[in-house]
Amino acid sequence: MNDIETPKCPHCGAEMIKWETPVNSTWSATFQWVCFNDECPYFIRGWDWMMKSQNVKASYRFRMDPESGGTGPLPVWSYDALKNKIIE
Ligand SMILES: [Zn+2]
Repeated sequence: MNDIETPKCPHCGAEMIKWETPVNSTWSATFQWVCFNDECPYFIRGWDWMMKSQNVKASYRFRMDPESGGTGPLPVWSYDALKNKIIE
């Protein structure tokens, strides 16, 4: 697995973390790169945005698909949400 270079989050510069792809997702890769930095502006802005636009207390983290290179939001409902699926 050492041949995979760890990408950095374009929003905060933190190294992204391998996160196990849920079995019922449409992503084909076995894992996703996710920025789990709680200081990430993308994540911080998400709370305001979700409250204003959807009236829900939630946010999202920056995600990148290692196969397609596609990026998008990964919805979370708390700071610790989804962290149990982090792959070390
Ligand atoms: Zn980030």
